[in-house]
This record gives sequence, C-alpha cells and structure tokens, in this order.
Amino acid sequence: MSLERTLVILKPSAVQRGLVGEITSRFERKGLRLAGMKMMQLTDELLSEHYAHLAGKPFFARVKNSMMASPVIVCCYEGVEAVQVVRAMTGATNGRNAVPGTIRGDYSVSAQENIVHTSDSPENAVVELNRFFKPEEIFDYKLNAMPYINYAEECE
Ligand code: ADP
Repeated sequence: MSLERTLVILKPSAVQRGLVGEITSRFERKGLRLAGMKMMQLTDELLSEHYAHLAGKPFFARVKNSMMASPVIVCCYEGVEAVQVVRAMTGATNGRNAVPGTIRGDYSVSAQENIVHTSDSPENAVVELNRFFKPEEIFDYKLNAMPYINYAEECE
C-alpha cells in the first residue's frame, strides 16, 4: 500500500447543478487529503488529449463540448490507494447504471452528464495530474488528522 494522488474533475454538470460542495464534501469526509484545487475553462486541445481514447467514438465531439460548456473544478486528492478509492466512490460511467451511494449513482441519470471525471489507474493519474496541474499547484502540507485516518504503516 502507498499514498497515491488522483485527479478529480467536477464537470460542468456538477458546477451548473450546484453540486461542487456536495461532491467535495464526500471526499473530505472519506479522509482524503485535498492537495490541489482550481477552477479552469477547458479547451478542445486539452480535451482531445485527455479523451484521446474516445477519439473514434460518435460522441467524441459532443463529450468535449459538454466539458467546455462552463468552467470546471479540478482537484488533486491524496490517500492510501486513493485512485481505486475515488474510482469506487465515482461509480459506473453511465449514471443510470451506477450503484446508488456512488456519486454518479446518486446525482446522474446520464451516460455523458455524469458529474465527475476520476483517474482510472495510478499510471493515468500521474499523466492526468501533470496535464491539469503545474507542480507548484500541488501542495505537500501535512494533514494533522492523519493519525486518525490511517495508521503509520499503511502509508509506507
Ligand atoms: P469514465 O469517465 O467512467 O472513465 P470513459 O473514459 O469511458 O469513462 O468516458 C469518458 C467520458 O465520456 C464519460 O465520463 C462520459 O462523460 C462520456 N461518455 C462515455 N461513454 C459515453 C456514451 N456512450 N455516451 C455519451 N457519453 C459518453
């Protein structure tokens, strides 16, 4: 086990529906350390890179437009096995299939307007955090509650 960092994007569907507080509060309550957070307007160029694996899909242009419809909030969360923890909290891509209790399961009924993007592997998390954050935008501060979140050996 080790400390990992992962990318969360609160999509325009979260910003427009006033869910930013609700979603970030879930990650806070879970015990993840917020290491970076900012609002940004995504561009077609950045999204073409971020969603390159969808380039052949008929909905590629629509998904990119949806992600540019308003500014988004990008977050970096840190924790033990944070990538899989956050991914489990996210739920299935299509909100209609996502299990209730997950973010998409609770707030989305759409395959596209599904509230959050979250990194799907530790390798992709590294690439995606570099894509959306400058090094100085990620903060290394100590979470004082850490001894009550994990025992020391869990973080090694
Ligand atoms: P995830 O976001 O769960 O990792 P993908 O990487 O497969 O899923 O897809 C990226 C995003 O593209 C999804 O979050 C969703 O917004 C959109 N998307 C994926 N599949 C569809 C689809 N069949 N119809 C419309 N939008 C889709």
